Amino acid sequence: MDNRMDRRPRPDRPGPRPVVPAAHFNLQRPDLRPDRPPLRQDLFTSRVGGLDGQLELRLVTVTPLHIGTGLTGLEGGRAIMLTARCHETPVIPGTALKGALRMVAEALSRSCPDQRCRACYPCLLFGSLGYRGKVTIHPGIPEATPAPRPLGFMLPLRSSRGPSRVDDRVRFYNHRKAQPDPKGVELVETLAAGTVFRAQIHYLNLPPAALGFLLLVTGAVPGFGFLHKIGGAKGMGLGSMKVEIAQHRLRTVLRKAPAIHEQDPPPAQELARQYLEAEKEHDPRGVLVASLATLREKSLPLEVELP
Ligand SMILES: [Zn+2]
Repeated sequence: MDNRMDRRPRPDRPGPRPVVPAAHFNLQRPDLRPDRPPLRQDLFTSRVGGLDGQLELRLVTVTPLHIGTGLTGLEGGRAIMLTARCHETPVIPGTALKGALRMVAEALSRSCPDQRCRACYPCLLFGSLGYRGKVTIHPGIPEATPAPRPLGFMLPLRSSRGPSRVDDRVRFYNHRKAQPDPKGVELVETLAAGTVFRAQIHYLNLPPAALGFLLLVTGAVPGFGFLHKIGGAKGMGLGSMKVEIAQHRLRTVLRKAPAIHEQDPPPAQELARQYLEAEKEHDPRGVLVASLATLREKSLPLEVELP
């Protein structure tokens, strides 16, 4: 018999290698069509007329979280990369949260590539060179007291990383389960999956569509929910995070006492729909809605119930 024809698996040979899912996926930026006018400058400069409010987010880690600070500690006689803290409490710094949100915002809008244009939604919300954005993001503070104790987590050798932006695409990390590497070389401090944080977001003078855009970007709008990635070692499965809206209040400053009037905002879906409507005519191929669907679909492997 011709051996080459014998395709039966042989027990003494290893089977095919398991397919390791790619660490990233790309979202196409919907900013290539030149016909969309830049945002009106008065949105950036006017001080009245928009919505003011406060959003409280509930952040739940779905895989372990490590936010590196460059500080190293000792655990069991070996070096451990510490996670971010405020005094003794492990936190998610506002800058880390803002970075994660802006990354998604740039992928979902016709944004500038260099955060300088002062004419796109991400610049309006998160700021631009020489311009302070309309949204202030405060750090995520653990809900539990005492704060959860971080645990060591072994990572394999670091591999080199490519650029995260390629012209018309934004690169994201895939969500997958994180497994400590028993032969790992780097010990990092992580907060366990299931740790819950609260973070405040304040915004001033946002048009309703821009507020809808901000809500979409949080990944907490019902029907448009997805997971975020935050912190270090994202490619190894760390840093998947679910965001929920814990509280949302609109504020109006009155001339007479009581000086601040609070009220409920329109439903998040309604505000998000206003943004989607505003962008629709400039996005005939539906890149924006397709990108939202991709973010949601890419979150599914972790089997979390999404908003
Ligand atoms: Zn911009």
